[in-house]
Amino acid sequence: KARLFSGMQPSADSLQIGNYIGALMQWRTMQDTYDAFFTVVDLHAITVPQDPKELREKTRRTAAQYIAAGIEPAKSTLYVQSQVPAHAELAWILSTVTGFGEASRMTQFKDKSQRYGADKASVALFTYPVLMAADILLYQAKVVPVGDDQKQHVELTRNLAERFNARFGQTFTIPDPVIQKDTARIYDLQEPTSKMSKSAESQAGVLYLLDDINVTAKKIMRAVTDSDGIVRYDRENKPGVSNLLTIYAALTGRQIGAIEDEYAGRGYGDFKKGLRDVIVAEFEPVRARALELLEDPAELDRLLGANAARASEVAEKTLAQVYERVGLLRAP
Ligand code: ATP
Ligand code: MG
Repeated sequence: KARLFSGMQPSADSLQIGNYIGALMQWRTMQDTYDAFFTVVDLHAITVPQDPKELREKTRRTAAQYIAAGIEPAKSTLYVQSQVPAHAELAWILSTVTGFGEASRMTQFKDKSQRYGADKASVALFTYPVLMAADILLYQAKVVPVGDDQKQHVELTRNLAERFNARFGQTFTIPDPVIQKDTARIYDLQEPTSKMSKSAESQAGVLYLLDDINVTAKKIMRAVTDSDGIVRYDRENKPGVSNLLTIYAALTGRQIGAIEDEYAGRGYGDFKKGLRDVIVAEFEPVRARALELLEDPAELDRLLGANAARASEVAEKTLAQVYERVGLLRAP
C-alpha cells in the first residue's frame, strides 16, 4: 500500500464543515486504499499564539472528531505531531537546504503575518512550510491530500526532497499533492467569497461539527443568499446559493443539477430547510460519537499514544538515514 500523509491544526474547539467535506470525508475513503497517517499538527498550531490549557483540549477534541468522522485507529495511524519528536528534528535539517528567498515566497505566511503584524509574527510562522515538508517526508508519503491553499507548501516539499536527494543521495520519496476539486471548497456562510475556516474571527458563518444542532440550523437559515430567489449554481454571481448547493451535493452525493431541479420554483426558505435536514442528519451521529470519546480523555490519550509509537517507528528510520547522509556523528 502506498503511504498517505495529511493533518489538521488543533486551532479550534470544533472542526468546521469545510474540514469535513474537504478532508475527513476523503480521508475516510482513502484509508482503505492507502497506508495512511493522519496527524493533529499541534506544532503547527503554536506558530500563532495559543492558550496552553486550551491547546491540549483542542488537540484531544480534534483527534476525537477524526475518529467520530470515521477514521479508524486500527486501520490508519492517527496521532499527535508533537508526540513524535522526529518531526521537529527533520524540520531543522530541511531548513538547512531551504533558501531564505524561496521560503519568503510562501503566500500563506504573507497572509497570516498580516493578521498579526510583521513584528508579532513568529519565526515559526515563517518556517511553517519547512515543518510541513518534514511531516510529509518522514513517512516517505507518496500521496498528500490538501486543499489548494496548501498546494504551494507541497510544491516546496517536492523541491526540498529533490534537492536533498541530489545533494546527499536518494533518501526521500517525492510526494504528489492530491488537490481537492473546487466543488469541495466550502465558503463562509456570511461571507461566501472567503474560505470557511475553523479559526475565523466571526463564528456566524462557520458550521462547526460540534455546534448544538439548533445553532447549526439557525446559521443555515441565516446564510447570505441573494435577491433573485432562484436555486441555481453560479459561483460568480450567486456565491451564497452556490456554496449551499456545494454542501448539499457533497453530503448527499447527488449532482448539483438534480438539486436545482428539485427546488425549481420553490424559494430559498424551502431549500435551506432541506439543507438543514441533510446537515443535521450527517452531523448528529458524528457529534454524539465525538462527545462520547471526550468523556474518557485518559482512554483517548492512551489510544493516541499507542498510535504515536507506531508513527515513531517509521519516522525514526527516515531520520536515522538523514542524520547519516548529512554527516552527523552518531553515538556508538
Ligand atoms: P485554520 O483557520 O486553523 O487554518 P482551517 O479550517 O483552514 O483552520 P486547516 O487545519 O488549515 O483548517 O485544514 C485542515 C484541512 O481542511 C485541510 O486539508 C484543508 O485543505 C481543509 N479545509 C480547510 N478549510 C476548508 C474549506 N473551507 N473547504 C474545504 N476544505 C477545507
Ligand atoms: Mg487553514
